[in-house]
Amino acid sequence: MTFNEGARLDSSRVRTSRGGRGVAVGGGLGVLALVVLSQLLGIDLTALGDGLSQGSATSEATSAVEGCETGADANQDVSCRVVGALNSLDAYWAQALPAAGKEFVQPGAEIFEVSVQTGCGNATSAVGPFYCPADQSMYIDTGFYDDLRTRFGSSGGPLAEMYVVAHEYGHHIEQITGLMDQADRTGTGPGSDSVRIELTADCLAGMWARNASTVPDPVSGVPFLQPLTPEEIADALSAAAAVGDDRIQEQATGTVSPEAWTHGSSEQRQQWFLVGFEGGTLDDCNALAAESL
Ligand SMILES: [Zn+2]
Repeated sequence: MTFNEGARLDSSRVRTSRGGRGVAVGGGLGVLALVVLSQLLGIDLTALGDGLSQGSATSEATSAVEGCETGADANQDVSCRVVGALNSLDAYWAQALPAAGKEFVQPGAEIFEVSVQTGCGNATSAVGPFYCPADQSMYIDTGFYDDLRTRFGSSGGPLAEMYVVAHEYGHHIEQITGLMDQADRTGTGPGSDSVRIELTADCLAGMWARNASTVPDPVSGVPFLQPLTPEEIADALSAAAAVGDDRIQEQATGTVSPEAWTHGSSEQRQQWFLVGFEGGTLDDCNALAAESL
């Protein structure tokens, strides 16, 4: 999926920060903090590492992303691609939610490196991209895109990157529609609410992907994105599969333990993305209410 070259981006929409390297992470505290915070957040894309800490805060300056003005910039630069994806997601959900009788509120968004302070505590890039319900903001570490390819075997590509942004945006939609509050996110396993919340976010990402090339920028009237190619759809599915719990467990430990799943299997994640992509509605995407996953 590539951007229409003349699309106008609103880069003031996304903050960027560069955290210090002195964040206290590691040891027992880091693990404990991760467990505590991951139940609060629990919605980071990977939940892989010992990355969240309640240790001392580091000073951090945030500013708007610079140099992202057009779709051509988004086609060339990874941070501008986050901006463009977010602009497109804003445009889509600002009309799709009211059309379904729900109120829309824009999420905050920040691109970070190394570490970041959030309403849910401090996080490092070891956590991967995540959404924080407490400040209704998503936090994207673009370095994770390299991990997706090199560590998790995704095919990469722009739509794979945008799937990550759209998934986190999906958690925001769950938050503002009340779905997040309905979930008991303390459990794990293939049928747990934790997994259902993740699969719903994948489905919501699919809903956006289906409509991204037709929903216009409210300012210019031009859609941000061109129609998807089959290769780009394959990239998004490859990214969804790469962050499946079974794939990650197999890669990390050589075995698969479904009782520990928090995000769903590779197959489930692809399947739920496709539910949204093939025309599913908000109700169709509600994996919390689904009889089978
Ligand atoms: Zn998630």
